[in-house]
Amino acid sequence: MSSTVTDCLFCRIVAGHLPADVVAQDEHAVAFRDIDPKAPVHVLVVPREHYGDVTQLASGNPALLGRVVELAEEVAAQEGNGQFRLIFNTGPHAGQSVFHVHGHVIAGPEPLGWSPA
Ligand code: AMP
Repeated sequence: MSSTVTDCLFCRIVAGHLPADVVAQDEHAVAFRDIDPKAPVHVLVVPREHYGDVTQLASGNPALLGRVVELAEEVAAQEGNGQFRLIFNTGPHAGQSVFHVHGHVIAGPEPLGWSPA
């Protein structure tokens, strides 16, 4: 789905109807701090258009997914040393709790501890 959803938390943030600590944005995507940070830098990057998860965004508008990744890179450079993890929880069993696609930009001044590989 590629429209604004009125009862979507992140659509409401993108529209400016709910407060958020926005750190970067452009006409395609918005980056704001996670309200419950798990790392020194924990920022969410979301497209302005509503897609439920990263698979829907990738199939519906791959260029927009590319822009989300570019904004994540900008945030990591601005907030840290430019190195970062970009995590898209996809589906409730994978930990997704907000169903407007968002990449978690995880970074920090120290080397990150846990790694999946
Ligand atoms: P996920 O569990 O992958 O869907 O991630 C959702 C994230 O949104 C969690 O890390 C929450 O802490 C974060 N979150 C929920 N509500 C807000 C909010 N109003 N502003 C910023 N981050 C939020």
